[in-house]
Amino acid sequence: MAEPMAVIATVSNAVALVKKAKAVADSMTNVELKMTIAELMGELATVKMQVAELQEENSQLRKRQELQHKLVYKYSKYFLPDPPEGLHVGPYCARCWDFDKKLISLIDYSSKDYLTPNFGCRVCGSTYDPEVLE
Ligand SMILES: [Zn+2]
Repeated sequence: MAEPMAVIATVSNAVALVKKAKAVADSMTNVELKMTIAELMGELATVKMQVAELQEENSQLRKRQELQHKLVYKYSKYFLPDPPEGLHVGPYCARCWDFDKKLISLIDYSSKDYLTPNFGCRVCGSTYDPEVLE
């Protein structure tokens, strides 16, 4: 599989070659050739944009996969014992991760009302009972 940066470099080279061909065509009088080259430049610009989008999507999928390996399921919640930069240890909502692959921090309600479960998810509304210490 081609690396995304290599694909972008290839497309950039193709754009440079088309610009060179356009310069040659501009010095001639063949209108059809000029129009075809202009169309080709537009298509290449679209391909370049699509590659950038795929690169971003691929990056997101890799991050998600990396998170999946780091997440630890405990007390019906997820935790990140070794959180990547920008994230915390947790707990995170198990339902949101399992169904939507969204990492949602749980809100700790334990200090407000001891009759309700300790944690709640503000996105899906799931509640989690107090942690049972082993
Ligand atoms: Zn949730």
